[in-house]
Amino acid sequence: MSQQLTNEYLTGLAKEFGTPLYVYHAEKIQEQYNKLTKAFNNSNTVFFYACKALTNINILRYIKSLGANVDCSSINEVRLALYAGFPPARILYTSNGIGFSEIEEAQALGVIINIDSLSNLEKFGKKFGRSYPVGVRLRPNIMAGGNLKISTGHDKSKFGIPVDQIEKVLDVVRRYDMNIADLHIHTGSEIKDADVFVKSIEILFDIIPHFKELKFIDLGGGFKVSDRRDFTETDIDAIAKKVNESFASHTQPGARNFQVWFEPGKFLVSQCGYFVTQVNVIKETSSATFVSVDSGFNHLIRPMFYDAYHHIENISNPSGPEKKYSVVGNICETDTFAWDRTLNEVREGDHLVFHNAGAYGFEMSSNFNSRFKPAEVMVKDGKAFLIRKRDVFEDLLRSQVLVD
Ligand SMILES: *Cc1c(COP(=O)(O)O)cnc(C)c1O
Repeated sequence: MSQQLTNEYLTGLAKEFGTPLYVYHAEKIQEQYNKLTKAFNNSNTVFFYACKALTNINILRYIKSLGANVDCSSINEVRLALYAGFPPARILYTSNGIGFSEIEEAQALGVIINIDSLSNLEKFGKKFGRSYPVGVRLRPNIMAGGNLKISTGHDKSKFGIPVDQIEKVLDVVRRYDMNIADLHIHTGSEIKDADVFVKSIEILFDIIPHFKELKFIDLGGGFKVSDRRDFTETDIDAIAKKVNESFASHTQPGARNFQVWFEPGKFLVSQCGYFVTQVNVIKETSSATFVSVDSGFNHLIRPMFYDAYHHIENISNPSGPEKKYSVVGNICETDTFAWDRTLNEVREGDHLVFHNAGAYGFEMSSNFNSRFKPAEVMVKDGKAFLIRKRDVFEDLLRSQVLVD
């Protein structure tokens, strides 16, 4: 059965820890991870958790305990991963237009590195030659993913070195005698279609023969989960089958046996997360009934930023009559969470829960309006642990410098 926290339990947490509150259910992460490892059971596949989705060090430690590796998108994420106990060999740093000094730092820390520009590849070759194996992030020039903002592989995307510039890549690699250990393609987020991964593999197999030392093929992340409006979840079994078939069909005699990497973020941590808020005000107007909760896009930006759908539940009145509401926040900026949403009758003081709030929720939060970031709680083995304190007023002042 799918792991799910009950309304009563979440209400209890809201009372104990206050709101707004992020709650993460560890066993749900395990359930998702098991889906991946089960599907790819008989193949040489490794999963790197794309930790930009949720970097609380307790979540990182939990995911490490499951056996996953970690994919980072900044040097600070690399440091957090090391802090959480991942050994450098299990940490991947996939760069996006970062300065070379960060790549040098990552090299000094001994982690795996994917380079995404000719410029940094050249600098890396010049400095390290073949002494440090490195990966190349390619842009496959294919469109995939939920929408343009979260697609990274299309031909106008900034991500990766366009595959049509492969001759230039080869030139750099030849000149510095570089050891290219992996090729990486990440096409975007919320990919439902297994064929997108097959297409990436097809593109890579044209290129693979040029890299004699290649050991790993990194197909990125982007698996979609159900959000309870669109119930489709990326069919991991179908992807495993197609990816395995695709690799099998390319195995010529003497071909190397590549280890395949994936970098799931959202797939692992989206559904484990609940964002619990409390209703401040109900405002009846001629156009809508507004429900203002004690939060805003300063805490959960995905609806405003991506038009993302988050299922909302009134856990204080689950059997109340259904009505339509516009759910909004309390910051001084339009911060609509949901328009025209059917909820069980909402009263001031009720607790509203936003589902699928684990990925890119707290992680994209800010102190806009000088409000505090929410607290975070992890539920594990039936016990709730505070894993991040709510901000206090001193936090707003901590790095400010007062001048006379
Ligand atoms: C963001 C990102 C991911 C994870 O994407 P999800 O949609 O959360 O699975 C994986 N790899 C790279 C390089 C990324 O930038």
